[in-house]
Amino acid sequence: EVRVRFAPSPTGGLHLGGVRTALFNYLFAKKHNGTFILRVEDTDQTRFVEGAEQYIVDCLEWCGISPDESPQKPGAFGPYRQSERKPSYRQYAEQLVASGYAYYAFDTSEELTAKRAEEPNFLYGQKSRMQMRNSLTLTQSEVSELLAQNAPHVIRIKMPTDEQVTFTDMIRGVVSFETNLVDDKVLLKADGMPTYHLAVVVDDKAMEISHIFRGEEWLPSAPIHILLWKYLGWADEMPAWAHLPLILKPDGNGKLSKRDGDRLGFPVYAMNWTDPKTGDVTKGFKELGFMPEAFVNLLGVLGWNDGTDKEIFSLDELKASFSVERISKAGAKFDFEKAKWFNHEWIKQSPVSSLQLVVSSLLKQSGIEANEEKLAEVIELVKDRCTLLPDFVVQTAYFFTSPAEYDSAAVKPKWNADKAAFFEEFANTLNVELSALELEASFKALAETKGLKPGEVMLPLRIVLVGGKFGPGVFDIVKLLGKEETQNRIAKGIA
Ligand code: GLU
Repeated sequence: EVRVRFAPSPTGGLHLGGVRTALFNYLFAKKHNGTFILRVEDTDQTRFVEGAEQYIVDCLEWCGISPDESPQKPGAFGPYRQSERKPSYRQYAEQLVASGYAYYAFDTSEELTAKRAEEPNFLYGQKSRMQMRNSLTLTQSEVSELLAQNAPHVIRIKMPTDEQVTFTDMIRGVVSFETNLVDDKVLLKADGMPTYHLAVVVDDKAMEISHIFRGEEWLPSAPIHILLWKYLGWADEMPAWAHLPLILKPDGNGKLSKRDGDRLGFPVYAMNWTDPKTGDVTKGFKELGFMPEAFVNLLGVLGWNDGTDKEIFSLDELKASFSVERISKAGAKFDFEKAKWFNHEWIKQSPVSSLQLVVSSLLKQSGIEANEEKLAEVIELVKDRCTLLPDFVVQTAYFFTSPAEYDSAAVKPKWNADKAAFFEEFANTLNVELSALELEASFKALAETKGLKPGEVMLPLRIVLVGGKFGPGVFDIVKLLGKEETQNRIAKGIA
């Protein structure tokens, strides 16, 4: 049975790389009729941020990839928050000490700081562990005494000497690590909480996780995790591993980080994130006007393709086509212009019914109450012109309120009496029952009888109706505005 987990730490906004990890987990689960789990990795109390868990849940829901099991929707494998499993971690850490794979370390933080000052490249590990204060260097009775006194201590893994940890990554193939290069990571902290390394293994076992999809930044941790699976006696149940390629900055120069959003002028979070301490808001794709379908689509093809040139995928199509074999090893550059292209494509191909609610509420926020029946027609007419959802406000507002001002650069050269007379006659004889093409023909014919070139009056017509030099065909606009409104706007424009 396929059981996969997305295991974010609730430390702030959800970066698009995090959503992509969640998405690939989700797709793999759905493809195999499996279960997609959200596990909140909250054992680092110094990094815990209030509200971050709910925010993660909301992001996944917005993307349409809500988990099957989560803290909010517990299944039979709880708890789904790591901190709530606290009592069981010590037992596993102690088991590792008893079997010689881990040891107690009593070094105080002052001692460690002093050591690091002395040796800037200090790593607590094979070369140095015998110089430190731990259960490998102290006598058994000293250790028992310290423990009896509740002396602060951590438990560290004892990395083996001269071994190679080798495993097959579903994306990268065979990967090997030299144990000599890995330090003795802390497994259990002085506060009794596990570190990520211990908790992730214990939880993946307890939750019967079958496959692990996570970012490439966790690859260096894999040998520690694999040794822990082995040392805890669970080697036979170890999940399969897949380390997803990094999402790179647009220029390919390094990993796209949380801070890049501000620097590069585009969001990196799924949704707006408000820092609970400072109140600062970091912008997200949702509020910028991305459709969730587009956001999921663009993440789905960051580091994956179906083997063809196809780029537009619905979530259902991604579910059907997803395959681990087609995930690339190389990092994927994130291109915000391309991201906008996806949104534009999604807006174009979305039925009006799926856009209307959001457009209507955007208009309300701008103080415009739109007649819904007319709004549906307007959306159909202008959706090709919208890249981000808020573009709909500019593209639709003038259908419901006459322009407050005119693009004065565009209306030059100024009106003259001939043009005004022409517009008056056009307005008086207007028949909106004609098709847009017929209207255009009659407009042009009338202009010629007045000795005007159609080109001289077309743009002014648009300006008086729209206010600016944009929008769909001007006679489509006339038809949608209707006779009276067109007449009013012309009258106001030539006054
Ligand atoms: N808590 C880790 C994170 O924040 C999870 C890594 C993993 O999936 O093992 O990404």
